[in-house]
Amino acid sequence: MELFINRRQWLKTSTLAFVGLMAGTGFIGCREQPSAPLSDSEGDTFIRIDSNESPYGISKAAREAITSSMGQSNRYPHLHYPELEELIAERENVTPDHIMLGAGSTEIMTTLIHLSKTKGEILIADPTYFDFVYYAVKSDCPLNKVPLNDNFEHDVDAMQNQLRSQTALVYICNPNNPTGSITPKDKLFSFCDQASQRALVVVDEAYHEYVEDPAYTSMIELVREGKNVIITRTFSKIFGLAGLRIGYGMAQPETIKELKKMERNFASISWLSLKAAIASYQDRSFLQYVREKNEEVKLYLYEELKRLGYPHVLSHTNFVLFKTSQDALTMVEEFKKRHILVRAFEINRDHWIRVSLGTYEEMETFVSALEEISF
Ligand code: PLP
Repeated sequence: MELFINRRQWLKTSTLAFVGLMAGTGFIGCREQPSAPLSDSEGDTFIRIDSNESPYGISKAAREAITSSMGQSNRYPHLHYPELEELIAERENVTPDHIMLGAGSTEIMTTLIHLSKTKGEILIADPTYFDFVYYAVKSDCPLNKVPLNDNFEHDVDAMQNQLRSQTALVYICNPNNPTGSITPKDKLFSFCDQASQRALVVVDEAYHEYVEDPAYTSMIELVREGKNVIITRTFSKIFGLAGLRIGYGMAQPETIKELKKMERNFASISWLSLKAAIASYQDRSFLQYVREKNEEVKLYLYEELKRLGYPHVLSHTNFVLFKTSQDALTMVEEFKKRHILVRAFEINRDHWIRVSLGTYEEMETFVSALEEISF
């Protein structure tokens, strides 16, 4: 898999690290992407459907929690982390010792990468969450990539065959980014169970709350059973708190202790992020509202893609990947001219666009632009 970047973007982003990564691997992480300004000189905003953020903002409860706790921002927040850890532990039926909060699930994942780096390679699907791949490469951590199967599921049999003495970490993204697909629960459960006897298995469930398909389940049961598995989740997606940077990991208490050794003094999540996450976590009706809106927009997009002749992957997330016979990178540039941000991928030499699900109105604008761009 390759995340497209054009020559102009390449020249704009000229840090040594970036050039080194591009030369070696042919992809970029979101931090190296040239970002579009929040508004252009005429004040028009961009339709940001490139980073799988929620277009529905944050819940009223989160907003109120932020406002009412603002006055205590002079205090370090770490002593209050247990408030959220206990809520998560109770809902997931584990103990608070199984939980670790992070500045986004990214912080948990990068810590895992650092810990496994000296131990061996990471077994990972391809394509999968490109920022995880990016951080691993940046940390000089070898990757053993196994292509997804034809249904865009993790090819668990092939991955099983690749478990070897040098495997230090197994990374599973379910639902997977950029495909939006899920790997059926029984297959995944038995693979993670077996793999966890050889190495730590990280299951990235960033889009967990969107999934309604009974073929999916979280792998948290393996954590409950005492297996060497860590589940990562985030408040950045359905909860809409991407800008506040808060996520969490759930694993065996000894794994959590190892991870916490790398924690910074006074920790990395701000008081306001913590308070917003606590309020959001308990606001089930907001979650349901976002889930329903997302589903409505997804069905609209499916219909329009079908009408325009673009095959897409069935998505269980807030984004959709569709195939194009045009040059995907050129399409991204055309969208950008129309103030719409999306991402281009090359998977098995085919060109694809990944579009996040914005509001209905944003997607109508996207579809009109797609119609204009298509030939
Ligand atoms: N995991 C996956 C699969 C993602 O797609 C993303 C963001 O796009 C993240 C993790 C990042 O999550 P966070 O904002 O919690 O660091």
